[in-house]
Amino acid sequence: MIFDPHIHSKYSGDSAIEPAIILKVAKKMGLDGIAVTDHLTIKGGIETRKMNLDPDFYVIVGSEIETNNKEDLVGLFLTEEIKSRDTEDVITEIKAQGGVVFWAHPFRFGKNVLHSDAIEQLDLIEGFNSKTSASRNMLAQQLAREYDKPVVGASDAHQAVEIGNGKTLVHDTSFDKIREALVSGKTQIVDSCLSYDYLDDML
Ligand SMILES: [Zn+2]
Repeated sequence: MIFDPHIHSKYSGDSAIEPAIILKVAKKMGLDGIAVTDHLTIKGGIETRKMNLDPDFYVIVGSEIETNNKEDLVGLFLTEEIKSRDTEDVITEIKAQGGVVFWAHPFRFGKNVLHSDAIEQLDLIEGFNSKTSASRNMLAQQLAREYDKPVVGASDAHQAVEIGNGKTLVHDTSFDKIREALVSGKTQIVDSCLSYDYLDDML
């Protein structure tokens, strides 16, 4: 199954995408599912999941949390808002509610700052983010290999046209087993392309 596990809806201050449009575009892009991961809220994920009436499409409720150290951690399968902003506490809070945590675009702003103990606690690392330069995505994939962490590819879409620019193939799974498949690392980055304004270092 192919997912885009990092999409922002209008519930993020810097995106205007309506949940209905996310569903429409994601399905037209041939995705089997998505995660809606708004900044500091699960409202967009909840609304999108409720709106989805297609049994062949799956919506994961998530949120992207900027920590006090300016790292962006994404929690998936959330049922409650994440209140902590301390890195370790955010990871603990996500896991305490049965969530899955990945580190979004670890090198977007230069060198990664998460210390190794925190990296060990992550479930996955975002090895491809369509709004992060190619060279920094390569560094993220190297980091994942170094820590033996599975990777996800994601669009980090803030506009409808970006949905599906990053994709994760989840092997051997069904909708009710996606969480387990992600945690056990049955993931692969596929068919991904940088969003147009992040092509800088490829030209
Ligand atoms: Zn994001």
